[in-house]
Amino acid sequence: MEFFDFIIVGAGPAGLFAALELSKAGKKVAVFDKGAPIDVRKCPIKSGAVPSCVHCRPCSIICGWGGAGAYSDGKLTLTPEFGGNLEKSVGRDRLLDLIAEVDRTFVRFGADSPVYEPDPAFAAEVIRKGRAAGLQVIPARIRHMGTDRAKQVLAAFYGQLDSACRVSMGIEVKSVLVENGEARGVLLEDGTCVSAPAVLLAPGREGATWMERVARDLGLSIDSLPVDIGVRVEVPDEIANELTEQFYEVKAVFDAPTFDDRVRTFCMCPHGEVVTEYQSDSGLVIVNGHSNRDRKTGNTNFAILVSTEFTQPFRDPNGYGGAIARLANMLGGTVLVQRLGDLKAGRRSTAGRIERGLVRPTLRQAEPGDLSFALPYRHLTDILEMIKALNAIMPGIDGPHTLLYGVEVKFYSLRLSLDRGLQTSVKGLYAAGDGAGVTRGLVQASASGLVAARDFLDRQAGRS
Ligand SMILES: Cc1cc2nc3c(=O)[nH]c(=O)nc-3n(C[C@H](O)[C@H](O)[C@H](O)COP(=O)(O)OP(=O)(O)OC[C@H]3O[C@@H](n4cnc5c(N)ncnc54)[C@H](O)[C@@H]3O)c2cc1C
Repeated sequence: MEFFDFIIVGAGPAGLFAALELSKAGKKVAVFDKGAPIDVRKCPIKSGAVPSCVHCRPCSIICGWGGAGAYSDGKLTLTPEFGGNLEKSVGRDRLLDLIAEVDRTFVRFGADSPVYEPDPAFAAEVIRKGRAAGLQVIPARIRHMGTDRAKQVLAAFYGQLDSACRVSMGIEVKSVLVENGEARGVLLEDGTCVSAPAVLLAPGREGATWMERVARDLGLSIDSLPVDIGVRVEVPDEIANELTEQFYEVKAVFDAPTFDDRVRTFCMCPHGEVVTEYQSDSGLVIVNGHSNRDRKTGNTNFAILVSTEFTQPFRDPNGYGGAIARLANMLGGTVLVQRLGDLKAGRRSTAGRIERGLVRPTLRQAEPGDLSFALPYRHLTDILEMIKALNAIMPGIDGPHTLLYGVEVKFYSLRLSLDRGLQTSVKGLYAAGDGAGVTRGLVQASASGLVAARDFLDRQAGRS
């Protein structure tokens, strides 16, 4: 059996920042990721090898060196209100320091793109117009790397970590070894045991189902989170430019009147493209989006997500989100696309109707269809009310040609009970990033890796 000081499951931002911190402190670290190395990660749709998602296991869009971050839009959100719940664990002041530190590290590894911050007078006017329509618009500071640059930055992380840690790509961790309430290591898919007194679980959203299984097997406490389900909206740049040139990403939150649900915009991608994301654990194809820094389309896309709380004894938010995504897949074989005008008129979109529309879909593989067959009435109502409200700050978005892709589901609905250092009730077993329900974006995921690594170092040094 091989022995390490610390084992990291998942080479996404949470795992990488933990690995950086621990290797800097001279610890013997092993990183396992079931996906491919950064230079090998390729989605066959992107290279034109296949016309639509062929369900690669694991999916290169979300698995491999860099995690979902490698193909992500590379928007570093430098405002603590967005991208996770880490503030609850570490407090606001410490989170602000961590965000600044994570940003400096990304810049050191090559993320030297400018930071977007809206002109205060312009932002005030947008906030005022939004408020009149019931929207809360929250300006954020955003550094946008772009998908292509994000990959280069993550390759630079690899350059440093490959020599400092034992990095194993294409290796799936099956389970966590625990004895007498203390972490002892991990069991790999091929039956190999690897030993360490501390393990960080950072498997991302893709690994949320795996995480849930591990948590149940080990008897870890789980708090449920709301399920986030919605659509990706695509409009021509002209409709979004005025806002995105200032804000880059417009973060708006809305309490939809009919059901009193919380609805929000998420992951805005100016000049971007809509993409599919294959969840190999569940076999689902869902929708997402990103922007390349150097290759611009004429469209802007973003998600509208509905967060709903459920009544007890419901304990399976991931299962619920998966069931809705499965319905859309059942109807279209992949994600569906529909014109807003068709949805409102109660008819499906067809290839002909999309062709006649004024918005060219950037995800050509999406199947024209009818989202009302897949999304519950509640979610559809919330989404339509949100689009109507958004029209106050983004005139034209509520028009008939706006495209809606479905469904977008965020599988980070499971939240483990963790202490301030992100340790579970098992001594030496940590959990960080999106898969633990702690974060929802690159910066806070990275920060959570730092928190876990430092807690381990502090405990070893008798500082906590
Ligand atoms: C298309 C897209 C665009 C995005 N754009 C942005 C953006 O612009 N800004 C932003 O802030 N966020 C964005 N995000 C979200 C962001 O990428 C995630 O929040 C972030 O990557 C989460 O980091 P993580 O370390 O928790 O997990 P991940 O990055 O998801 O990494 C988890 C890793 O764990 C591995 N893994 C899972 N289970 C196992 C196992 N059992 N054994 C071994 N390995 C395992 C996976 O292969 C994966 O590589 C985007 C996501 C996507 C998919």
